[in-house]
Amino acid sequence: MTQCTLCPRKCRVNRSETTGFCGMGNTPKLARAALHFWEEPCIAGTKGSGALFFSGCTLRCCYCQNHSLSHQGHGKEISVERLAEIFQSLYEQGAHNLNFVTATPFVPQILKALEIYKPPIPIVWNSSGYEAMDTLKMLEGVVDVYLPDMKHVSSRLSALCAKAPDYFEVAAAALKEMCRQTGPAVYDENGIMQKGTLIRHLILPGCTQDSMQVLNFIAESLPKGTPVALMRQYTPQPFCTVKGLDRPITDAEYSRVLSHYEALGLSGYTQEKSSSDSAFTPAFDFTGL
Ligand code: SF4
Repeated sequence: MTQCTLCPRKCRVNRSETTGFCGMGNTPKLARAALHFWEEPCIAGTKGSGALFFSGCTLRCCYCQNHSLSHQGHGKEISVERLAEIFQSLYEQGAHNLNFVTATPFVPQILKALEIYKPPIPIVWNSSGYEAMDTLKMLEGVVDVYLPDMKHVSSRLSALCAKAPDYFEVAAAALKEMCRQTGPAVYDENGIMQKGTLIRHLILPGCTQDSMQVLNFIAESLPKGTPVALMRQYTPQPFCTVKGLDRPITDAEYSRVLSHYEALGLSGYTQEKSSSDSAFTPAFDFTGL
């Protein structure tokens, strides 16, 4: 690809010579590929999700819990052939699915690796929601389960947190396309999602109004019954300088958003208070690479 337009940043750089916003070259770069138990039960199940944590990010939120990957490009470069071997290894370890975490800069390489080896388990696309329509079309028929975030509605908040004032318009269109591609959620006999789109929303401190607008969008504009995971695990990060994001959310904030979620008739997953810590961030020590 001579001019990269894989994500809405549309940097139009030749990534074999230089890098764009995501900081990634053309060779797949990851920091971990292992069974992962800290996803929603329909993704992690009892045997774990085969999570592939890619380096680089097309959004790079200031509050990212995977800062070393998304902002600093921490990772190990591997070939497409090695990537296919890792798919097979995760399958043989018993993974319920292959779970591509923020992998957008490497869509062409992942598609090539899946041509070499595609396991008979669902392909999960774990995304910030900030996806270009043309790239989603490349994934149609390959991805079984989309796992997108819907982060903010406010253009000001998206500009402040991720230098992406267009985040909501882009993500809204992307989520509609994801739902169109997968259709309604389908689960196997063990409750593992085989097809569908599961939306995640992380409540930010001081931003409950925005969270409620996110939920309004989901209820009004996406197919009824689309599952939604409401997350309270926001953990302040030392490198985040945006005013007000330096504390966890309060019980009152969570209750306010949860009440709205319930009033809208949304369903899916809500989180216990104990999840509000950083214990869910795995070690990015090149395990499985
Ligand atoms: S994938 Fe990276 S280089 Fe390509 S458009 Fe997006 S941020 Fe720019």
